[in-house]
Amino acid sequence: DRTIRQIAAGEVVERPASVVKELVENSLDADANRVSVAVDAGGTEGVRVRDDGVGMDRDAVRMAVDEHTTSKISDIEDLEAGVGTLGFRGEALHTIGAVSRLTVRSKPRGGDEAGTELRVEGGEVTDVRPAGCPEGTVVEVDDLFFNTPARRKFLKTTATEFDHVNTVVTQYALANPDVAISLEHDDREVFATEGRGSLEATVLSVYGREVAESMTRVDHEPDAGAVASVTGLVSHPETTRSARDYLSTFVNDRYVTARVLREAVLDAYGGQLAADRYPFAVLFVAVPPDAVDVNVHPRKMEVRFDDESGVKRAVESAVESALLDEGL
Ligand code: ADP
Ligand code: MG
Repeated sequence: DRTIRQIAAGEVVERPASVVKELVENSLDADANRVSVAVDAGGTEGVRVRDDGVGMDRDAVRMAVDEHTTSKISDIEDLEAGVGTLGFRGEALHTIGAVSRLTVRSKPRGGDEAGTELRVEGGEVTDVRPAGCPEGTVVEVDDLFFNTPARRKFLKTTATEFDHVNTVVTQYALANPDVAISLEHDDREVFATEGRGSLEATVLSVYGREVAESMTRVDHEPDAGAVASVTGLVSHPETTRSARDYLSTFVNDRYVTARVLREAVLDAYGGQLAADRYPFAVLFVAVPPDAVDVNVHPRKMEVRFDDESGVKRAVESAVESALLDEGL
């Protein structure tokens, strides 16, 4: 019933940034080349994600907001193989629709049908109609938690909520240099990547020239017996910030947080960092899929490695070599 639905929604949708994460994942799953995210008041008033992906026809739009529907698992073997697409639970749109005013506009790529617009308010579909729209999908989420005042009360300031949104969109931009990803806050552009496939260009778009120019490549052949291969970019030890939000780590191309990765990066800088300063790093760590547990805490994106100290050595030595090459 409605109450259970609203409680369940809280598990998936904690704050505007969780809405943004689910919508951006859907756009990437839909093979988009361009994903535009726009939020108002840190996302507390509105979130809009527009993509040029495969789109949906009328039936697919209706199904997308139903409970437990996903087009991404066709059979149990997919599940066991560890689904390649980002989302697979089939409940994100449904749960978001339960706690907001949701509008989906979509039109299939390359088809000649009209587009479809569907509205959901607090879990009830209030309108479905043909609509003129470009190919791809736009999802708008307004007034998040309007019908769950207790949850709404837990939202932090606009600035804090926007920080979380910015972190999420930044991670997806860095992980997908071949997709043009942009972020707007209250009608101002925060960043826009070109989507031409270069990590350097993406870092330039996201973090600006000063940071981009201080970055050095991590691309060493792993040592013999290394349990992970490590590539990416790390900044000069003097190009730092006071928050650790600029350490982005991806395991098998998925954004993750892991204390061992953070420690490895910081240890590689040795004594070169000023107290309480953190470098910029964008690191892609590749390990055999069975050597990492990604389900420690799905929402928080924590992972655990079978061989934590092996992974730490591999990351630390890769970053150290990169800094050494620069004479640092
Ligand atoms: P999941 O992503 O786990 O399948 P969601 O609730 O996030 O579940 O989405 C439900 C379904 O709606 C997806 O499986 C997909 O078929 C469709 N869908 C959602 N967003 C998009 C999009 N941006 N473009 C195309 N299809 C989408
Ligand atoms: Mg999804």
